[in-house]
Amino acid sequence: MFEAYAALGISPEVYAYGEAALERLQSRFSAIDKIAEYNQAKVISAMQKNRVSAACFAATSGYGYDDVGRDTLEKVYADVFHTEAALVRPQIACGTHALTVALSANLLPGDELLSPVGLPYDTLQEVIGIRESPCSLAEYGVSYRQVDLKEDGGFDYDGIRAAINEKTKLVTIQRSKGYATRPTFSVRQIGELISFIKGIRPDIVCMVDNCYGEFVETIEPSDVGADMVVGSLIKNPGGGLAPIGGYICGTEKCIRRCAFRLSAPGLGQEVGANLGLMTSLYQGFFLAPTVTAGAEKGAIFAANLYEPLGFRCVPNSQETRHDIIQAVELGSEAAMCAFCQGIQAAAPVDSFATPVPWDMPGYEDPVIMAAGAFVQGSSIELSADGPIRPPYAVYFQGGLTWAHAKLGILMSLQKLVDAGLTSLN
Ligand SMILES: *Cc1c(COP(=O)(O)O)cnc(C)c1O
Repeated sequence: MFEAYAALGISPEVYAYGEAALERLQSRFSAIDKIAEYNQAKVISAMQKNRVSAACFAATSGYGYDDVGRDTLEKVYADVFHTEAALVRPQIACGTHALTVALSANLLPGDELLSPVGLPYDTLQEVIGIRESPCSLAEYGVSYRQVDLKEDGGFDYDGIRAAINEKTKLVTIQRSKGYATRPTFSVRQIGELISFIKGIRPDIVCMVDNCYGEFVETIEPSDVGADMVVGSLIKNPGGGLAPIGGYICGTEKCIRRCAFRLSAPGLGQEVGANLGLMTSLYQGFFLAPTVTAGAEKGAIFAANLYEPLGFRCVPNSQETRHDIIQAVELGSEAAMCAFCQGIQAAAPVDSFATPVPWDMPGYEDPVIMAAGAFVQGSSIELSADGPIRPPYAVYFQGGLTWAHAKLGILMSLQKLVDAGLTSLN
C-alpha cells in the first residue's frame, strides 16, 4: 500500500503517522457507516414510493410543463425530509440562491428577520443587507435583528425572547458553522431552539440553512419542527453528481411562495424545464448518504492528524459530528496556502494548479480555495477553503470517496512538513 502513496509524493513518515491515527478511529467509522445505511434505506424508500422510473430521466426543454422527472424528484425530496412540499431545481443556482428565494418569498416589507445564532454565512450578509448591496432584503424594507451565541456556544434564550417582537416574521437558523469557529448544531439542538421560538410565537416561520448537514444524522431539521430546510445540490444531497441546483423542503404554504418567487407570481412550480439533468440529480441523491459518510470520515481523520500537532481543530478530534466541515486553525497565511496546495495536489482534476488567495464575489476578505473538482466549486468533492484572516483557519470538506479524502489530508500534511511549518516528531 505504501508504494501507491509514495508514487503520489507521500513520505514514509507522513504515511505512518496517518496509519497510526486511523487505527484509533475504527469504531467511529463503523458508527458513521450505520447512519449511511439508515439514510440509504430512507432514500430508496422515497424513490420506490414515488415510482421513480426511466421516464423520470427524460430531458425537457422550454417551459417544462408537466415535467414528470422534476415533479417526482420534488416528491422524493419531500418524503426524505418528511415535509409537505419541496422545490428542487437546476434553476436554483446555488445554496445562497436557494436561501435568497426562501427568505425573499416569505418576508414582506415591514417584516423582521431574526438570526438567533449569530452572524450568518458570508454570502447571506449581502442578501440580508448586513453588508450593503443592491436588492438586499434591507433595501426592500425587511429589517434584521441578530442574537449572538453565548460565550460557551449555547443559545442566548433570554436574548432571543427579548429580540422577538410583533414584526418578527421569520427566524433563520444556520446549522453548520460556515466560516466561523463556533460549534455546528445537532438536529436535536435545533429542535430545542425551534420549540422555544414557537413557544413564544407559533406563527414565526423557522427556516434552517441546512448546508453541509444533510445525511450526517438520521434526522433532519424538518423532523424537529423547521418550516423550511434549505441547501445546495453541489454539497451533500447532490452526491457529487448534480452539476447545479438547490433545494427548499418545507410546508406547502412556504414552498408555494418560494415557487412564485423563483419563477413568477402565477407561474410557480409549473414551469422550469429539467434540461436533461434529472439522472444526475436522482443518482446523486441516491449516492448522497454514502458520499456524505466518506466526507465525514475525512473530516474526523483530519482532526485526528492535525490536533496532536498543536493546531486547534473545530470540531475537535473526539467530538460527535453534525456536518462534514472540519476547521483547522493553522495560524498563518503560509500554512493555509500549504494546506490548500496539498488538497489541490491530491485531486483527480487540476492537480497541477496552485491555489492562491483571491477576492471572491460575496466574501469580504480574500479567500483561498483548493478544489480539483469534476463540478466547478463543488464542495462535496474534496476541497478546502478559508478567508485570509485570523485565526487563519482552513475549512476542509468533502471527498466523493473516503480513500480520496484520506489521500488529500495526507498530502496537505506533507506540504506543511515539506515547508517546515510543522514537524511530526
Ligand atoms: C455553502 C453555504 C452556503 C451558500 O451556498 P453556496 O452554494 O456556496 O451559495 C450558505 N450557508 C452555509 C452554511 C454554507 O455552508
